Amino acid sequence: DFHLPTRGAVAHEPGLYVVHVAVEMAPIAKVGGMGDVVTALGRAVQAEGHRVELVLPRYRFFDSSPLLGEERFEAEFEWAGARVRVTTAVVEGLRVWFVDPGNGAFNANTVYVGGKEDQARFEFFCRAALEFLLRTGRQPDILHSHDWSTADVAKAYWTEWHGYGLWRPKVIFTIHNMNYGAAKLGEAAYYSQRFTTVSPTYASEVGGAPLLAPHNAKMRGILNGIDPDIWDPETDAFLPRGYNAASVEEGKAAARAEVRRRLGMSDWGDKPMVGVVSRLTKQKGTHLIAHAAWRALERGGQFVLLGSAPDPKVQAEFAALANSLDGANAGFAFAFDEPLSHLIYAACDVIVVPSMFEPCGLTQMIAMRYGAVPVVRHTGGLRDTVFDVDFDKGRAAWDLEGSTDWQADGVDATNGFAFDGADEGALDSALNR
Ligand code: ADP
Repeated sequence: DFHLPTRGAVAHEPGLYVVHVAVEMAPIAKVGGMGDVVTALGRAVQAEGHRVELVLPRYRFFDSSPLLGEERFEAEFEWAGARVRVTTAVVEGLRVWFVDPGNGAFNANTVYVGGKEDQARFEFFCRAALEFLLRTGRQPDILHSHDWSTADVAKAYWTEWHGYGLWRPKVIFTIHNMNYGAAKLGEAAYYSQRFTTVSPTYASEVGGAPLLAPHNAKMRGILNGIDPDIWDPETDAFLPRGYNAASVEEGKAAARAEVRRRLGMSDWGDKPMVGVVSRLTKQKGTHLIAHAAWRALERGGQFVLLGSAPDPKVQAEFAALANSLDGANAGFAFAFDEPLSHLIYAACDVIVVPSMFEPCGLTQMIAMRYGAVPVVRHTGGLRDTVFDVDFDKGRAAWDLEGSTDWQADGVDATNGFAFDGADEGALDSALNR
């Protein structure tokens, strides 16, 4: 069905049929940014007139999820010694197929269970997802898989399904983080027709990696975004008071009061609030997060942290930090807490993101949407989204406004503070300002 799109033509190009195979999806199965992006990208592409569906594992914790809405039966078949059952629901406006391989693999209460076990259960899931598409006669134009967990889709499709009836799809693969499952990423880079990563700067940082370099011609860095309807301070049900640009002061004051109350902070003075919402891993610059806490208090501000630490040692370090800081002005929550994260973005004046590396990063974008100024380390996608008020005027004008001369054109598109080094002094150079 070859055709040439013609500028100004009145006929519409037919939409594509895109099926994502993923293990995370916000808000029903969110661990980090990948879950946000799978949902936001699906919605954005669907809004462009394409047909978008998702295939996810049927996690046991969906049984008690208030977010899932109405789930109904779709298909059931014997395959690979298992009885695969598929149910479906609409989540955030997207049709989602939930695959239960019938072998108890997804009975845990979390998306990831850790170690080798995850590899086995996700590999089986990828293949069951392909079998579901085949059995139900679906022929998507695009299969889109994400990170190591669904990387197997690319190879399995081309070597085992493509010749046996599921013939139409081409495969797109997105790398959300190079740090996990590198061998699988390289394999998917080889078998996919195009692969992407989540920001142009990260693409240039990892493009030379031996596993990807041979396939560089197929690679593009495409910046993630947040869904402005999902992240909207005006309609956000988790805030005590919705706000927009006109009512931002009242809205943020109400959120600040709520955060101070919840985290047990006793000083309610008019102090600037500095915050962090993050997984607490080395990648996220934990030593600088701790320093930001000290520095914020030293300078007469307040500090709040919402952090989930998979490593108990890191968790213990931060618990010790919490104990050593003045509780009147510092508040800590060690959990994965979606509602509290919204409240913190709304409450804070500054959100600090001092990552050692960051494929894209969403928290700095959410911060901006909620009227908090990002202070970031210039790496990966943080560099592509945050432009320092003092030294990035030219780059911001070009990247955001297409202007080659910000002075002549009178554009200042800068939107935050940034630093380059990896030590405390470097962070201070941005945070102090
Ligand atoms: P990553 O995917 O590496 O964790 P991103 O910045 O891409 O980092 O995405 C993080 C997402 O997870 C954001 O939506 C952020 O608000 C959310 N998040 C991170 N930590 C927590 C937490 N402890 N509780 C709730 N949400 C969190």
